[in-house]
Amino acid sequence: MKETAIRRVKVRKISAPLIMPFTISSGSHKNLENVLIEVELKNGIKGFGEAPIAAHITGEKIELTQKNLLSFGKKISGFEIENYWKLMIMAEEQLEKNRAALFAAQTAVIDAFCKTVRIPMWKLYGSKPFKAQTDITVVIGSAKDAFDFTLAMRRRGFKIFKIKVGTDFDADINRVMSAAKAAPGCEIYIDANCAYSAREALSFISELKKRGIPLSLVEQPVKKDDYCGLAEVSAKTDIPVLADESAYGLEDAARIIKGRLATGINIKLTKFGLLRAAEIRRLALACGVKLMIGQMMESQLATFAALHFALGSGGFDFLDLDTPYFLAKGLMKYPKKCAASNGVYDIRPVKEGAGVQPA
Ligand SMILES: [Mg+2]
Repeated sequence: MKETAIRRVKVRKISAPLIMPFTISSGSHKNLENVLIEVELKNGIKGFGEAPIAAHITGEKIELTQKNLLSFGKKISGFEIENYWKLMIMAEEQLEKNRAALFAAQTAVIDAFCKTVRIPMWKLYGSKPFKAQTDITVVIGSAKDAFDFTLAMRRRGFKIFKIKVGTDFDADINRVMSAAKAAPGCEIYIDANCAYSAREALSFISELKKRGIPLSLVEQPVKKDDYCGLAEVSAKTDIPVLADESAYGLEDAARIIKGRLATGINIKLTKFGLLRAAEIRRLALACGVKLMIGQMMESQLATFAALHFALGSGGFDFLDLDTPYFLAKGLMKYPKKCAASNGVYDIRPVKEGAGVQPA
């Protein structure tokens, strides 16, 4: 067996409590509960990947994801990591119906490969990464919760606030007003997670406009498969409208991009896997559609994989990678200067791979 051959693949559950329930209009996370895959080479090099489990959004479950990753692990045992491209395609074939597992498997493979050739993961994607600040999510709760949380995070240095809406029209207007009051001069996004019809979304936006709240972004205002509604909201407002749940697979995303049904799309690696995400990025940029890099509930491991992808390849206008800031317990080791307490990420200090490993 060559030194760079895959000797062993381990899979286990990881979990951590959150500082508060991460509640959106379609459900809630009380804890992070994800699956970790570790790909170990004969020479001891280890690559890691994280499968983000968001059963209330994607329907993917922990047990099945573990099982699928273990069976993928058996298949790739003995392969040399230099064949990472072949391994990525094997993952596409075997894990296509379990995208969280696909993302984890592909991340672990390229992490091990990048460590083998001693490059940071972003170099695999191309250009020179820059510093970038993530938005921070204001979850569903009371208007006072929205005010207090926004104020605390603004004091920490966050500047972009993404307010989850879509449960109660008037209460949501008040919550957005409260958050905006706590963060004068900051950018305000809203994310309805599929809650509205086109007409409701437009009236929500115009109500906020009447009250002097300038929104910088509206995310997934309408139902997942309401492509007409999505196009209508995009056409009738000047505010950028982003598709998230509506762009779940390659075909959905391509349909939105080709038809310019939204201003932009939210690329989450766990929706697409790494290869399809790269394809969607290319198509979107070619068609003048804007890009957000987003995530499910993820630790720094999956988050850094997304950072390397987005900042390494470039072209992303919106960064929505804030879930590590909701973890009440550290799960991962990483260079601390790469993720500042105000949400500014800088992956340039990463020497090899993603730069993150289990603590
Ligand atoms: Mg979203």
